[in-house]
Amino acid sequence: MPASDFEIFDPRFTSMIVGNAHVDKLFTGCRWSEGPVYVPAGRYLLWSDIPNDRVMRWDETDGSVSVFEQPAWNANGHTLDRQGRVLSCEHRGRAVTRREHDGSRKVLADHFEGQRLNSPNDLVVKSDDSIWFTDPTYGIDSDYEGDAAVSEIGASNVYRIDPQTGAVTAVVQDMVRPNGLAFSPDERWLYVVDTGFTHVADGPRLLRRYEVAADGLSVGNGQVFATCSARLFDGLRADVQGNLWVGAGDGVHCLAPDGTLLGKIRVPEVVANVCFGGPKRNRLFICGTTSLYSIYLKTQGLPR
Ligand code: MG
Repeated sequence: MPASDFEIFDPRFTSMIVGNAHVDKLFTGCRWSEGPVYVPAGRYLLWSDIPNDRVMRWDETDGSVSVFEQPAWNANGHTLDRQGRVLSCEHRGRAVTRREHDGSRKVLADHFEGQRLNSPNDLVVKSDDSIWFTDPTYGIDSDYEGDAAVSEIGASNVYRIDPQTGAVTAVVQDMVRPNGLAFSPDERWLYVVDTGFTHVADGPRLLRRYEVAADGLSVGNGQVFATCSARLFDGLRADVQGNLWVGAGDGVHCLAPDGTLLGKIRVPEVVANVCFGGPKRNRLFICGTTSLYSIYLKTQGLPR
């Protein structure tokens, strides 16, 4: 006790892991795995292989993997909305889109104040159906994972799409390269990773949190919540207790609601993103560079 796939720094972590569980490799052969979303109605998981411009599909019923879509607008982050539809951040589309129930693609946001978005990276849906997404430049920095272009906006912000009007407003404008994001279970806090280290010497590689305004439309000033001790944080998900499971250079870091690093799931590749899934939402799916991994936990992801 416990298996070697875990590093434990705090006893709180022990209660969330299954001692004899281990990391399973479900698929390999990607260039950069990102953006996982579990679709409970179909018992499958979609994730992005951004440089190969494809979205992959892992079928929970038989373990098979197939190409869901290619080309795929160099899609990155995915999530589900409250109606069960898949939402996507697209580098090459420079848009946030929704897959309708009939299979068609609907653009939800591709501009801010008349200028094209950079390359939406990751997104989360709030209980009021608003969609919050980050817009760094990784998809326009080169032709590797999108189409190279100069930023029209000239900044990397976090935006909110209003569920009634579709209006796009900037909610965070003080980050270098906002990346993964998540709400606390009570939606009092918005957590956003800043991976500005990729563009600025000694730049941020940390997780900030912002207090959500009472009306849910904006956030207050951010504060540093945690700094990454292994390369960079990237995508994250919250569990039902408000712990954060964050992709990092050496695996998945588990942060308590007070910011303490409780423990790690060791993964042999750099982890870009995670999501909870399975019928009980107790299985963490892990996008680790070339591969898709998973591990069972003793906690559950938030329903979305
Ligand atoms: Mg990301």
